Amino acid sequence: MPCTGSATGIARISGSTWTAAAGSGRTSCSPRKVAVFVDGCFWHACPEHGSKPKANEWYWSPKLIKNVERDRMNDAALILAGWTVVRVWEHVPLPEAVATVVSTLAASRPAPATGDDALS
Ligand SMILES: [Zn+2]
Repeated sequence: MPCTGSATGIARISGSTWTAAAGSGRTSCSPRKVAVFVDGCFWHACPEHGSKPKANEWYWSPKLIKNVERDRMNDAALILAGWTVVRVWEHVPLPEAVATVVSTLAASRPAPATGDDALS
């Protein structure tokens, strides 16, 4: 499998909610188990920019609370499965977000080889 997950690739897909695995550091193309989420300020209740809608508050408050609870459950499940979780708020400037992801990738240990590697 060719090396993927470069900083350029990360930059192209940030700005929406996504997960990524098997990224690479600057000096290695070994797969890493790093999950990256770009959390929207509204949908994930950013402490700086999250707002509570005034209309239909009965609907929005529980929904936004559930989103945050789901985020924490997903984080816990991923960590239990051996993943490193990176969450970046959508308001974070792109270069800063990319730097966070790249430094996390650089610090992460390559995932053990699996049978999937044989297919690439
Ligand atoms: Zn925000």
